[in-house]
Amino acid sequence: MKIQLASELQSDSIVDGEGMRIVVWTQGCMHNCLGCHNPETHSFTGGTWKNVDDLKEEILKFEAQDGITLSGGDPFYQPEASAELAKWCKDNELNVWCYTGFTFEQLKVRAKVDYNVKELLENIDVLVDGKFDMSKKSLNLYFRGSTNQRILDIKESLKQNKAVEIEKYKEIKVYEEYSRERVGMFI
Ligand code: SF4
Repeated sequence: MKIQLASELQSDSIVDGEGMRIVVWTQGCMHNCLGCHNPETHSFTGGTWKNVDDLKEEILKFEAQDGITLSGGDPFYQPEASAELAKWCKDNELNVWCYTGFTFEQLKVRAKVDYNVKELLENIDVLVDGKFDMSKKSLNLYFRGSTNQRILDIKESLKQNKAVEIEKYKEIKVYEEYSRERVGMFI
């Protein structure tokens, strides 16, 4: 099984989900969000192909990582390879975050006809869903770029058959309060 990647694995990330994370940048995305930060990942002919087993070996070499984050691009354009990797991570006690331009509701519909989409959803812990919306952009959000995107507990979402957001990530970042405090010091 091969996966199309936009770049090498990135370790020690603290901005692509909770804890210290290895980011898997997948290649290929058709969402075309205005203001996307990674337009070079859109092409389905770009990037490089890598064997998923080789990727697993690479992941094992990193130390002190809490999990992986599937990002891109959009991992849900490669559900079979992404699902295999996500399942292997779960078996190896690495938690899995995934960014997608699809909404949870759209993925549930796809999962009914595509076993790999179902398998991928079932092996993700946290899904950050929805397209990046420039008109709803905010720098004060945890792990997402615009307020329409949701940070979902996927186990609970699948159990309750509805999108269940993780409460602690719905709020504004601490540094805004910090900034306010600092501003307050000077007025
Ligand atoms: S889903 Fe992500 S990678 Fe795709 S266009 Fe939107 S922001 Fe860019």
